[in-house]
Amino acid sequence: MKKVAFYTLGCKLNFSETSSISRMFEDKGYKKVEFTDTPDIFIINTCSVTENADKKCKKIVREARKISNNAYVAIIGCYAQLKPKEISEIPGVDAVLGAAEKFQLIDLLDGFVRPEQPKVLASDIEVATGFNNAFSINDRTRTFLKVQDGCDYSCTFCTIPLARGNSRSNTIENIIKQAEEIVDSGVKEIVLTGVNTGDFGIRNGKREDRFIDLARELDKINGLERIRISSIEPNLLTDEVIEFVAQSNKFVPHFHIPLQSGSDNILKAMKRRYLSDLYVSRVNKIKSLMPHCCIGVDVIVGFPGETEEEFLKTYNFLNELDVSYLHVFTYSERANTPAAEMDDVIPLKERNKRSKMLRSLSEKKRRYFYEQHLNTIQEVLFEDDVENGMMHGFTKNYIRVAAKYDPVLINEIKQLALKEIDHNGHVTAEELTEILTH
Ligand code: SF4
Repeated sequence: MKKVAFYTLGCKLNFSETSSISRMFEDKGYKKVEFTDTPDIFIINTCSVTENADKKCKKIVREARKISNNAYVAIIGCYAQLKPKEISEIPGVDAVLGAAEKFQLIDLLDGFVRPEQPKVLASDIEVATGFNNAFSINDRTRTFLKVQDGCDYSCTFCTIPLARGNSRSNTIENIIKQAEEIVDSGVKEIVLTGVNTGDFGIRNGKREDRFIDLARELDKINGLERIRISSIEPNLLTDEVIEFVAQSNKFVPHFHIPLQSGSDNILKAMKRRYLSDLYVSRVNKIKSLMPHCCIGVDVIVGFPGETEEEFLKTYNFLNELDVSYLHVFTYSERANTPAAEMDDVIPLKERNKRSKMLRSLSEKKRRYFYEQHLNTIQEVLFEDDVENGMMHGFTKNYIRVAAKYDPVLINEIKQLALKEIDHNGHVTAEELTEILTH
């Protein structure tokens, strides 16, 4: 039985795809093993957004070669689609597969016999028009279910449309079938995942459904406890979607909404499809219906032309906005994007300073959000992770709760009283009758 190991860089979508590809291997009789367990095949699923994607890829290939000099090393993922030739020149790589090929790799790679010369099987991104099902399972209490792929937007900083192609989606029928399978396997929470999840519903270039249609059908699944939307563009987060989530027992009160900048000038330069007013109106609508809703924000600092004044607009905008945490990205130039050609480049030192400022604002926001929930009773779904004798779980509204490790709690939903914020910034909790944390 041949052994195969995986290494995944990047986002939830990549993790769900690795998980599905690994099941394809298992179905064909391969054994999935750890990276260090001298596999016969290494599959490295790369990301183009990751800082220093090329260095990371080289390092992982080097590690794989240290573990086994005879193993087959194949590279897939966004970075493989963007730079197939460059990757094939990394010493030790046997094959590079693009977006249209990665799900066919078992058939395409001829029994994984190492070739004389690295194989490059990466068609132009226009060829990647099909939708490949993917979801992660067995890895966590939560499953990432891919419902959509690709993006038709043209944000000036982003390489994802080049790496993943046009927007396309699974059918609602297929998604429901997969969700039911996931629920039958015992998973309690499904995270709906895509590149532009709110754009759900395009098939063969035509809009056939809307995100709200999918949400309504998923909401009917028996036995599914929680549904979380991984991220949704503010212009696609309609009143209808917010109102639906507010009345649902399954969709949790948590939105992750990319903002990218609080300055309208920068939003225009980024070619985002909204201005800051629209963003405020989305947050207000959510909070008017779900005052306890968690709202996460993606923001980029150091985009070309972001003067000190423009940055402070973003800082003040976020400071005043009722949001719960920030994901801060330091802008870095990506080849073949319009932003990489723009003038008024911000020095790296300044970008890093701004990033630090927003990260500490995020800490402040998160802490404030958590504090609002101390001494309340919340449902916590515990995950399968142990760290220094503690385990963790999340409330519906994404508060990370720590409790003393107890294997019986894994994948269980418990009603707990939130007590205090510990030195790691996690909330400790008590069972209503029994103390869990000490
Ligand atoms: S919405 Fe913009 S940032 Fe997001 S994947 Fe599409 S082009 Fe990239």
